[in-house]
Amino acid sequence: METLLESTDRDLRIVLVGTQHPGNIGSAARAMKTMGLSRLVLVAPEKAPDRDTQAMAAGADDLVAAAPVFASLAEAVADCRWVLGCTARSRRIQLEPLHPRDAARRALAATASGPVALVFGRERTGLENDELQLCHAAIHIPSDPAFSSLNLAAAVQVLSYELRCAMLGDLPALQDSAQRTAPPAAGAASHAELEGLFGQLAEALEQIDFHKGRAPDSAMRKLRRLYLRANLDSADVRLLRGVLADTQRMARLAGQGESP
Ligand code: SAH
Repeated sequence: METLLESTDRDLRIVLVGTQHPGNIGSAARAMKTMGLSRLVLVAPEKAPDRDTQAMAAGADDLVAAAPVFASLAEAVADCRWVLGCTARSRRIQLEPLHPRDAARRALAATASGPVALVFGRERTGLENDELQLCHAAIHIPSDPAFSSLNLAAAVQVLSYELRCAMLGDLPALQDSAQRTAPPAAGAASHAELEGLFGQLAEALEQIDFHKGRAPDSAMRKLRRLYLRANLDSADVRLLRGVLADTQRMARLAGQGESP
């Protein structure tokens, strides 16, 4: 039985138009495969996939091997019900660009009526106007307008990630992790303050012979986790270090008392 993820993947095409660097085809395939997508389509790549493609695919070469190659974008998307063009230039297109998250959710919903294509342009010049004319809507990753163009495979990664989140239904996962990890409160202790505390704690435990011959690592890992969960602020760290300083002083005195 085909799972929902598998049937969705079957209807989501990532179409690369006129790719100039074969390495980018491999990187795009890897970006897709990490997000559970497999339907890569090539339109008139400038150079055929080669060793660079394979090197950058790093195990996702099966997507490249299975990718159909078309002479034009029109042929590549002939059976698609919805076509979305990804573009780095938000102002030069007439289409109102969608945000990647919104686009991913809509694309997923649209797979119910047939294949959906996300189309990516050439590294140097992007998608041509007549190619954008074939698209129902545009997607723009809201990059810095002063430096807006992502590497082709990086753009594929952003969209593949959004598609995956949409496929998994991102909200429950976000709520779960929010409950487990509280954000740092104002005045939270710095990394250096906490490491100072852990260093002193390790010393004090040695001095009071807490480990009794056992390796100290396991206890220290648990204690670190406990203190990191507690969201200590700087005053908490000072208090705990004061307690440790007294513990260490007592241990030294007791040690002196025992010596002959
Ligand atoms: N100089 C080209 C940039 C091409 S980058 C131009 O101005 O269009 C290669 C492809 O990556 C683009 O055609 C587009 O599909 C995708 N891409 C890069 N940056 C993007 C962005 N900010 N938003 C959406 N797609 C982007």
